[in-house]
Amino acid sequence: MSNTEEKSLNFIEEIVEKWMEEHPGKKILTRFPPEPNGYLHIGHAKSICLNFGLAKKYGGATNLRFDDTNPVKEDVEYVDSIREDVRWLGFDWKQELYASDYFDQLYNYAVQLIKAGKAYVDFSSPEEIAQQKGSPTEPGTNSPFRDTPVDENVMLFEKMKNGEFADGACTLRAKIDMTHVNMHMRDPLMYRIKHAHHHRTGDKWCIYPMYDFAHGQSDSIEQITHSICTLEFVPHRELYDWYIEHLGIFPSRQYEFARLNLNYTVMSKRYLLKLVNEGVVSGWDDPRMPTICGLRRRGYTPASIREFCDRIGVAKRENTIDVSLLEFCIRQDLENSAHRVMAVLDPVKLVIVNYDDISTEAIFCENIPGNETAGVHEMAFGRELWIEREDFMVDPPKGYFRLQPDPDHVVRLKYAYIIQYVDHINDENGLVKEVHVRYHPDSKSGQDQSGIKVKTALHWVPKQAIPAEIRLYDRLFSEENPTTESTPNPSSLIINREALLEPYCANAEPGKSYQFFRLGYFCLDKDSDGQKLVFNKTVGLKDTFSKK
Ligand code: ATP
Ligand code: MG
Repeated sequence: MSNTEEKSLNFIEEIVEKWMEEHPGKKILTRFPPEPNGYLHIGHAKSICLNFGLAKKYGGATNLRFDDTNPVKEDVEYVDSIREDVRWLGFDWKQELYASDYFDQLYNYAVQLIKAGKAYVDFSSPEEIAQQKGSPTEPGTNSPFRDTPVDENVMLFEKMKNGEFADGACTLRAKIDMTHVNMHMRDPLMYRIKHAHHHRTGDKWCIYPMYDFAHGQSDSIEQITHSICTLEFVPHRELYDWYIEHLGIFPSRQYEFARLNLNYTVMSKRYLLKLVNEGVVSGWDDPRMPTICGLRRRGYTPASIREFCDRIGVAKRENTIDVSLLEFCIRQDLENSAHRVMAVLDPVKLVIVNYDDISTEAIFCENIPGNETAGVHEMAFGRELWIEREDFMVDPPKGYFRLQPDPDHVVRLKYAYIIQYVDHINDENGLVKEVHVRYHPDSKSGQDQSGIKVKTALHWVPKQAIPAEIRLYDRLFSEENPTTESTPNPSSLIINREALLEPYCANAEPGKSYQFFRLGYFCLDKDSDGQKLVFNKTVGLKDTFSKK
């Protein structure tokens, strides 16, 4: 969508604009609240673009809050990667915060509710609690511990905090209504006992707040105006509001949008971790992963991911986005920025029999066609070159316009001369080893005097081409909507070790993308070193999305 096009507001923008009218002079504050239990994926990018994007658009700010209330699954490695990924996407936060910073405050809030007769310590077992909950069609029943006197609850909760009970011996529950139509309101758990080391608070705590008792209160402490989350939290909203109301604290408000689902991949951190642990992929940043670091390594740019998030919009109902839209966005971005180079993935030698044996001449290749400021680079043309094996066919089908034994058939070598078949040599297996051609000296691109018409231009690399390993990727799953039971696509990675690149590619830097003429977009991989160049295929040239 172009900048000049008037875009209608999404439903969250409407909510924000209404809020701003009602709160003149006030600024919105949003937050992005990842749980540091894995690397961020493209779904998180949607949430990041939404939260940071709203703040940017309306002159507010966004906090980065690590939702680290579960001590066992969290790790500093994840915290670092999350920071890096948010920055890489182009966003900066107002404050970096941790839900664990609020453990003291949350504890005091819990005591406040106990003292108001709105929370109690419950020694029922998990099975008994589940039983008491009832079902969506049947009301629940009260716990036998529901009417413990306030003073005793105060004392018991303190004992919980002091480590006097074993894991699971008791919980703290809010005293709401066991017959409530919303199951989340049937005396939900507030705290559980877990004698576990926490990556930030160490061994200070052996009780940890549940998500519902931590999230809204953290929002409120930070004075978040718009707490935006995904649809599965709709049934939690009533409880979110209940805690805020009964604690009498800053009224943050929760708004829900549909999570991003993408076909041919899975997007839960838990499952992505499983793929990493089982060695299905090489790591969180395997270029086939839907993680931000995987996409980065694959050659995706921050702008292309932001554009994708913008195009999918903010929906109120779940749907699945076609991965080809993501591919469309990166292709569109690279089209205007990637230098064009030539690479041959399956080389066959081409000998130009009427070309002087010793001389070579410079061929100039536009870095970006139509963009003069992007400049040109040079390539050496000579008697021996490499072309793509599939660009020569001994016995071509009808409609094949590339090089073929027909002596009247002509093709152009891109940026260079028109050539014509002479003969060819096979190797001992009957595979074409060398193709011999004649060139037309007066047909050089840009100064062609030959008057010969050609239908096809072939890519080629000079004799001095450099070898490279090329990693070609396909979808991680062949199934359109994979589940955690689906088997990954065994041919999602194909490694080509035969490829030859034009020498200009020796200057490649990680993160810089190239268009390999006729083949697609590629970028240098971090596995490259002085000994070998490794390139990842980001995406092909053909756009299947805009055709839909
Ligand atoms: P996962 O199930 O992949 O672990 P999560 O929701 O548990 O995801 P969190 O770290 O809790 O991950 O998420 C941080 C924020 O990102 C939350 O506000 C969450 O709603 C949002 N988010 C996560 N996945 C998606 C998604 N697919 N689309 C949009 N937002 C998402
Ligand atoms: Mg989560």
